Amino acid sequence: MRTGSNLPAVGEYNQTLVLDLIRRAPEGLSRVELSARTGLSAQTLSNVTRRLADEGLIVEAGKVISGPGKPRTLLKLEPRSRFAVGVHLDPVVDTIVLVDMAGDVVAHDEIPRRHGAAPDELVDDVRAAVDRILSDADIPRPLVLGVGVAAPGPFDARGGRLLDPPLLPAWHNVHVREDLGAATGLPVIVEKDVTAAMVGEMWFDRSDALTDAMFLYYGAGVGLGVAISGSPVRGRTGNAGGIAHVVVDPDGPACECGSRGCLGVSIEPRTLLAEAGYEPTETGDSRPDLDRLVRDAAEGGAPAREVLHRAGERIARALVVTNNLLDVDEVVLGGPVWERLAAVLVDTVTARVAADPVSTATRAITVRLSRVGADVAAVGAACLMLDGAFAARPARMMIAI
Ligand SMILES: [Zn+2]
Repeated sequence: MRTGSNLPAVGEYNQTLVLDLIRRAPEGLSRVELSARTGLSAQTLSNVTRRLADEGLIVEAGKVISGPGKPRTLLKLEPRSRFAVGVHLDPVVDTIVLVDMAGDVVAHDEIPRRHGAAPDELVDDVRAAVDRILSDADIPRPLVLGVGVAAPGPFDARGGRLLDPPLLPAWHNVHVREDLGAATGLPVIVEKDVTAAMVGEMWFDRSDALTDAMFLYYGAGVGLGVAISGSPVRGRTGNAGGIAHVVVDPDGPACECGSRGCLGVSIEPRTLLAEAGYEPTETGDSRPDLDRLVRDAAEGGAPAREVLHRAGERIARALVVTNNLLDVDEVVLGGPVWERLAAVLVDTVTARVAADPVSTATRAITVRLSRVGADVAAVGAACLMLDGAFAARPARMMIAI
């Protein structure tokens, strides 16, 4: 349990700590309970909750009688006190979401894409989508904390610049943080999509139990978001999580890296559809064919079932190998392609992870599905903005002192 400090210099830390506890208790918490959970004195806690109420972040929400003494006033989060925008730049479809302080999605849209657009036009399209989602939801701009942008790597975390993401050729070398910040007038955070997904998943884990975990993000590309001791692992340059070249099937398809059966190439939609004998589509949008693959498998079609079964085995091997490395024992599966295939894949993945002979896990690996769904990277990017308001990390307290 994280506890507070009664020193005046750490007021901001206490504020985020208390706000985070209130957020995780939708039924509300009394000051007495907050005091017990944080170790803060009644006086300090009273100051903290008054400041939060003054900023409109929490409200009093009725009283409860528990035992002798005065009834206790419950404090709850005011979800509509602040908002954040999340954008996911994805090879298939760019998504934008607006979330409230509870992390709930208030509005969702897709960003129309112009073919052959120049970088400034791309940024302007995102700016227009931000304007549109705020105006359609009727949200005043001063209540918006900022825009979180999730994108495939590699990117320059320090400069907020996409470098040369192979899956987003049009976005090469675009200074997203600077340019989108100037265009929208809002703070902008840029994060690798797999890390954003991990953050989104942790945000919705109200019990705060998802502290050591990995998130296998399965979209047009595949990557791994990692959390250790309750914090996302970004690596030195913000580009951690590249598992596309972990070999999962020595008899699998040839990879551009020179190996065979790397995870990325072995489970990418194009490979699965080719293995099932489908003709490639001209649009490059694999979604209709992936849905067809699932339907064919559900109806007992042998190639479709075999292809998806093998994909499940390949994913399971990657999870076992990475869990051997990280020793987290908790695996979340999500992302847009995963969401389409999950109904057929999940049983194979779960069974194969449990049975894999190379596993060195000393307790069972828990495999579960994302709570957030297909938009997890966009929602996670928005949660990164909320995180600034909530996440009470002791490291931040050290800086405050
Ligand atoms: Zn490879």
